[in-house]
Amino acid sequence: MTRTAIVTGAARGIGAGIARRLTADGFAVALLDLDGEVAEGVAAELRESGAQAIGLSADVSDPDSVEAAVAEVAAQLGPVTVLVNNAGIIRDNLLHKMSVEDWDSVMGVHMRGAFLLAKATQGFMVEAKWGRIVNISSASALGNRGQANYSGAKAGLQGFTKALAKELGRFNITVNAIGPGFIETDMTRATAERMGQDFEELKKVVVGAIPVGRAGQPEDIAAAVAFFVREDASFTSGQVLYVAGGPLN
Ligand code: NAP
Repeated sequence: MTRTAIVTGAARGIGAGIARRLTADGFAVALLDLDGEVAEGVAAELRESGAQAIGLSADVSDPDSVEAAVAEVAAQLGPVTVLVNNAGIIRDNLLHKMSVEDWDSVMGVHMRGAFLLAKATQGFMVEAKWGRIVNISSASALGNRGQANYSGAKAGLQGFTKALAKELGRFNITVNAIGPGFIETDMTRATAERMGQDFEELKKVVVGAIPVGRAGQPEDIAAAVAFFVREDASFTSGQVLYVAGGPLN
């Protein structure tokens, strides 16, 4: 039986890596992103290798947009029983310089987005008496200078994960979170740029503190997602797995 998954923020970076892995593992995958065209481009590439994939435009923080996208996915690929809340943004600043807009937009994409997608898809999972939700948190949930909004949202996602795991477990739905460490994507490149640092220089410093001695890649996070959504991972729920090349202090 082919299961249908939604991956948000899948036009690039970690989301695209997750979509690639899930299609390789036999899931039909809908790639949702603000930029539907790029998401559809990635989906088209996946279809070329025989996968079932579609790319759609959606703003995860907007209830109407989420409802419409989920309905479209269900119409094209069938009931959505796997959800990966991956879409994310950063709007870093020290507290005294952080605008209310930057607070709200970060909370909007991560927290409100995960809430809206879970709410819009859980009916399919309850009906199927099977479901998998994976929320992409971050090592920053432990607290990062200049990231009060992002750290708050990513820690919030962990509480959200545990609450849903308790609420939805009776329907054979598991809910877990992954906390990536330093992963090479546009997001980390943008961070380096904002700090006025050369990316390769920043990477060298960061990698120096990573026990396995390398930066993470989207495939590293995709591998953890692949585990959580497996049929035989049904007794693993409410967990937060840091995927950071070593333990976090
Ligand atoms: P990325 O390369 O910036 O990709 C994020 C994707 O999310 C983009 O395609 C972006 O679309 C999309 N997106 C943003 N707002 C959206 C919205 N409202 N609705 C739908 N899509 C939206 O970031 P990434 O590094 O792959 O990060 C993916 C996830 O991992 C994020 O949740 C991030 O916080 C988390 N994470 C990343 C790292 C890391 O080191 N990279 C570490 C820990 C956690 P646009 O390009 O159109 O804006």
